[in-house]
Amino acid sequence: MNVNDMPIDDAGSWLCTHADDSGKPSPSTRLQVDDTAEWRPFEVELRPPRRTLRCPDCGTYWRIWPSDKVARPSIEWNVAQRSALATKYRRDSRLDISQVVDALSHRFPTIMILQQQGSWIADDDGLWWFSLPDTDCRIQVESMNGDCPFLVEAHGIARLRVSTVDELIRLISEYVAGVSLKDE
Ligand SMILES: [Zn+2]
Repeated sequence: MNVNDMPIDDAGSWLCTHADDSGKPSPSTRLQVDDTAEWRPFEVELRPPRRTLRCPDCGTYWRIWPSDKVARPSIEWNVAQRSALATKYRRDSRLDISQVVDALSHRFPTIMILQQQGSWIADDDGLWWFSLPDTDCRIQVESMNGDCPFLVEAHGIARLRVSTVDELIRLISEYVAGVSLKDE
């Protein structure tokens, strides 16, 4: 189990909790296993199967293991995808990495933030990649549970251990701002 995991109830549903852009709690959306799609990345049938669903109200990409009754949200940011979905909310999450994603997506709306995808429920997925489109800016951030401390790696940055959210936000902001300047 992962701290962000949501149990699926007997009716086959779980809640996606939301906040608005200013962080104010907003109405949740109840998601249903019946609405999920099978996830079969390599044309191989997974046993037990993993399914996926994107929340229509915040755009969160959920990974679902129905046989384990677990739904797990990905913590990501993709502004193009969000505009295409015309989403109203952000997912409300208290993890340190969620605060970092929120702060950086406000500061650099075009930043792309992707989380590692595991096929299996026990796979380690505590890896994130921050990048800027059309640049070679790429930062890797690692934390097994999504909370501090984080290990940060980027071209020109030796592997660094960062122990607070503010420090991580500042480090990535400076790196991204530096790359943006260089490319202008
Ligand atoms: Zn949602």
